[in-house]
Amino acid sequence: MSLVDTPAVKRLADWDGDRLERLATEYDTPLYVTDLDRIRENFARFESAFDFAHVMYAAKANTGQAVVRTLYDAGADIECAAAGELYRAIEAGVAPEDLQYTAVNPPDRDLDYAVDLWADTPELTVTAGASMTLDRLEERGFDGRLAIRVNPGIGTGHHEKVATGKDAKFGIPYEEVPELVESARERFEFVGLHAHVGSGVLSGDLDDHRRALQKVADLAARVGDLEFLDLGGGFGVPYRPDEPPLDIEAAAEMVREVTADVDATIALEPGRYLVADAGALLTRVNTIKETPETRVVGVDGGLTSLIRPAMFDSYHHIRNISGGDREPVTSSVGGPLCTSADVFCTDRPIPRSEAKDLLAIGNVGAYGINLASQFHSQPRPAEVAIDGEDERVTRRRETFEDLTRLENEAPGNR
Ligand SMILES: *Cc1c(COP(=O)(O)O)cnc(C)c1O
Repeated sequence: MSLVDTPAVKRLADWDGDRLERLATEYDTPLYVTDLDRIRENFARFESAFDFAHVMYAAKANTGQAVVRTLYDAGADIECAAAGELYRAIEAGVAPEDLQYTAVNPPDRDLDYAVDLWADTPELTVTAGASMTLDRLEERGFDGRLAIRVNPGIGTGHHEKVATGKDAKFGIPYEEVPELVESARERFEFVGLHAHVGSGVLSGDLDDHRRALQKVADLAARVGDLEFLDLGGGFGVPYRPDEPPLDIEAAAEMVREVTADVDATIALEPGRYLVADAGALLTRVNTIKETPETRVVGVDGGLTSLIRPAMFDSYHHIRNISGGDREPVTSSVGGPLCTSADVFCTDRPIPRSEAKDLLAIGNVGAYGINLASQFHSQPRPAEVAIDGEDERVTRRRETFEDLTRLENEAPGNR
């Protein structure tokens, strides 16, 4: 089977339960498991559908070295939305000329870093979403490749917190773009327009997404003389087991139609689509409590391992690896933190859990491990990458010593 003809989604049920059980025993829990082969499949399928476009990986979805390197080796350039991401990508082995930097309210430190990088690597493109960012780049002597991020005034996606296309924080107000482009052409090597309008777009959202992208494409045709039009990421994955995957061929056809009159390279920056279903979070049950309403299932992972349910009300499917064929009972699965937000699911029918069972939480490859925190003095989880038969630890588990390390290094605590 070629990489392109692989299933549109890897469901939690498709993971090898025996292997997950063995990994949890060997490396302890909570544990992120990342399937690098699946990432390669997702990239190949995306690139084949969008064979007319330049595809970059938006690294913030999962900035792990193994992930960035896998996608870079597969042929993706890397889109970074922070200087720290540029730094990490370079550490992972990405050549600076294959990076793009999108500056959102960039701290001075980030602009200094990007401009230093550009001094050695004139291929670097910087995308600015505020006219003051152009001024701040110019002050630093930057006169290189510059793109302007457009705010089309329409957002799309699965949650208002990710519908960036109508959020005033992102991009230049639509009507002001042509004038700023004129100014940018005089001060920089102006190369393109950029828009990233939302996230989690599934087939049912394609019409909305088309409207937002059409507005941006119309503007690109109006502005003219562009090297590229970058339409961002936002391609979604199904989080629920019965939800159909995004029809990527239909999405590609939509982008092709929308950009038919644009005489420029079309660029895209998928994040979630490439990595989400390549990740599972393993967590072990430590406490069972029967209450009148629900079976409370206490696990060792919590919102500090995976914050998406608490932050975005996201659904993540849960599979009982130790007893998948047991009869379902209404359960609420939550972690060790003293906040009611620390739940992976509430009153959901899942196979009856017992103490010491291993649970797997699905679709955590995007916006999972990089949002982990030490809140409530929780050491962050480890990560194991699986690559065919091969497995290796790609992030070690934090220890209690890691919790106090930065304070112990600070002069004020000596
Ligand atoms: C987050 C982000 C992306 C990727 O978004 P996904 O929804 O993960 O595809 C692409 N471009 C920019 C500028 C971003 O900030």
